[in-house]
Amino acid sequence: MQEYKIQQEKVRRPGLLARLAGLALAAALALTGCAGIPAGMLPSGGQGEAPAQGETIGTGETGDAAFQMHFIDVGQALSVLVECDGQYMLYDGGNVADGSLVVSYLDSQGVEQLEYVFCSHAHEDHVGGLAAALAYFPTNHVYAPVTQNDTACFEDFVKYTQQQGLAVEVPAVGTSWALGSATVQLLGPVKSYDDTNDTSLVLRIDYGETSFLLTGDMESDAEKDLLESGANLDVDVLQVGHHGSETSSSYVFLNAVLPEMGIISVGAGNSYGHPHEAALSRLRDAGVDTYRTDLMGTITISSDGANYTVGSEHYVPDEQLNPTLTDGGGQNASGSQSQTYIGNINSKKLHLPTCSSLPAEQNQVLFSSFDEAIAAGYTPCSNCLG
Ligand SMILES: [Zn+2]
Ligand SMILES: [Zn+2]
Repeated sequence: MQEYKIQQEKVRRPGLLARLAGLALAAALALTGCAGIPAGMLPSGGQGEAPAQGETIGTGETGDAAFQMHFIDVGQALSVLVECDGQYMLYDGGNVADGSLVVSYLDSQGVEQLEYVFCSHAHEDHVGGLAAALAYFPTNHVYAPVTQNDTACFEDFVKYTQQQGLAVEVPAVGTSWALGSATVQLLGPVKSYDDTNDTSLVLRIDYGETSFLLTGDMESDAEKDLLESGANLDVDVLQVGHHGSETSSSYVFLNAVLPEMGIISVGAGNSYGHPHEAALSRLRDAGVDTYRTDLMGTITISSDGANYTVGSEHYVPDEQLNPTLTDGGGQNASGSQSQTYIGNINSKKLHLPTCSSLPAEQNQVLFSSFDEAIAAGYTPCSNCLG
């Protein structure tokens, strides 16, 4: 069994992303103090890095995380394990060839059964490994955007669902599920699409004040429709759509989600050229801290409901992950060249940052150009832009 070591860690407090790159050892200390962390997550020891019990970083609250999200390194594919209060759900299972890796990883995390299995959409790099997971773990519900697809991997997924006496269910937008004390809600797809990627089940997960968005391979058409549906998209952590393809993570979408972190599940040297520079550049412009499984291996986010921490299998310097963000320019590097405009996501009014009637912070969306804001359906405030 592969050892999953926490070698990189960041701590986020509400409204502030504290950069703690370089505190890998401290990170390991924090997690070792927690009896709830499965053995596979602990430092391997014997390397001179075995930490003392009970030491913590930050407020120490992160050591009590009852919520964890694992972006399992399945190469050019996606597989996300979510755990809360001892309950588990699996969102995608990588390719068929990743099936045994996914099963061993879940095993190493102490998974004995799955409350929910979600197939984001019927492409092999998402549904492929789910048959193995369903063959191994008793499951309560299995969801997908369709019940049939003419591929061997999808048929296997259906077959192993049926072997458990279950049927693949197509959930309705707005459905919500409890996973321990976390809430999982289906936000999309809000329409039907010919493009399979756009059929991806979009899940919002809330645990305390921390929030996460899983988007599968959703591309810009579905992103736009989802935005227009009025769904609550504002989250802390975004699974960047379609492995960082330029056809996802549109500017208006990122500005509605306003994530602090974006996780890209992508294979090193993949033939698609993912992640595309255009998507990375939009993520940078939106001030999103980006994490990649091709560079970091499996990425784990732990939350105690107020703060979250990110750990990864391999340490990668922040400059390499987020080149412009660590350039001393700060998160508004793009704003220095042009005027920033602040939109109100409820009233769709557009303001200058100096306006006296700015919306509350959680209702703000930032635009770097006036035209972009107008194109997104915002109208100028009569006070500051009239
Ligand atoms: Zn994919
Ligand atoms: Zn796909």
